[in-house]
Amino acid sequence: MAKRDYYEVLGVDKKASEDEIKRAYRRMAIKYHPDKNPGNKEAEAKFKECAEAYEVLSDAEKRKQYDQYGHEGLRGAGMHDFSRMNVEDIFSMFGFEDFFGSVFGGGGRGGRGARRSGAARGYDLETGVEMTLDEVASGTEKTIEFTRQDRCPDCNGSGSAAGTQPIRCPVCGGGGQVAKGGGFFQMVSTCPQCQGSGHVVQTPCSKCRGSGRVPKKRTVTIKIPAGVHEGQGIRVAGEGEPGRDGGPNGDLYCYVRIKPHEFLERDGNDLISVVPISFTQAALGASIEVPSLTGTRQLKIPPGTQYGSTFRIRGQGLPDIRSGRTGDELVHITIETPTNLNDRQEGLLREFAKTENRNVSPKSQGFFEKLKRHFGNHS
Ligand SMILES: [Zn+2]
Ligand SMILES: [Zn+2]
Repeated sequence: MAKRDYYEVLGVDKKASEDEIKRAYRRMAIKYHPDKNPGNKEAEAKFKECAEAYEVLSDAEKRKQYDQYGHEGLRGAGMHDFSRMNVEDIFSMFGFEDFFGSVFGGGGRGGRGARRSGAARGYDLETGVEMTLDEVASGTEKTIEFTRQDRCPDCNGSGSAAGTQPIRCPVCGGGGQVAKGGGFFQMVSTCPQCQGSGHVVQTPCSKCRGSGRVPKKRTVTIKIPAGVHEGQGIRVAGEGEPGRDGGPNGDLYCYVRIKPHEFLERDGNDLISVVPISFTQAALGASIEVPSLTGTRQLKIPPGTQYGSTFRIRGQGLPDIRSGRTGDELVHITIETPTNLNDRQEGLLREFAKTENRNVSPKSQGFFEKLKRHFGNHS
């Protein structure tokens, strides 16, 4: 599915300010919030689409890339894979938890697992990798560069300036959760002050401004197995964002895109080529050159080859990703009718035409005979 324009997703102008974007995101996120649209998959998808748009447009660097190069410009930018994330995580990521909590009755979501304080696994990231068909055939190693929010080296992820320590969160007392309402139906929700971490930064680190994270370029080399398909994701364990409070890193998912080949098209594990031959080659038979992954190869065309005939070259396709068994190449033949005949060529063909009969062109002769029988001869 083609990605929609992020400005369109949030319904804002290309020149929208940071604040307008934030407001638009809140508005959309409320509209499509799963709590408001229970069981509505479309709403959930819209909700996640908004989160993706907001992630980009709320980040000056990503927004610049996107404005300049569109969706392509974000490849390798270390985007979150929202489709794999649950709604809770998307909230807390953008710090809107508190806001949504008050809109939807706070602890209502607690039933689906309120966040606990302390260590938490980092978010997964996704990126893309482009491959040629040749690389699909052999399998390959690719070096991928992407940017992720990494632990700030100055404060080691704590967010506190050197020599200072985060203090226990005064709102939740370090537990990461607060109780709302009173009496029998007391609800527990994530602490709005510390976003569930249980502590707050008093003197922010100057490098990361207290977030504990700084963008960092990463380079990883991944092995891509032979036979991989368009859109398949390769999981690179531990290359996602670092977890909170020493929690483990998320994973990086690298999605494969296969560059179109000039002569070969993929059909499962088979490759298809379309080769035009002349009508004399088709009639008389010939040895022709056909493209294959390893270069050109000779293919014998028997006399009397028809338009649309297919020849199978065994073992010249792609390996199956599981079994390793190799597919075939299918050569589809098209026949080119000659144009711009010179006098001699035309003369030869007229000569030939006089000799055509049921024996030479059984199909067309038979067809026109039948036609005549059916409609009579009106000419
Ligand atoms: Zn707190
Ligand atoms: Zn820092």
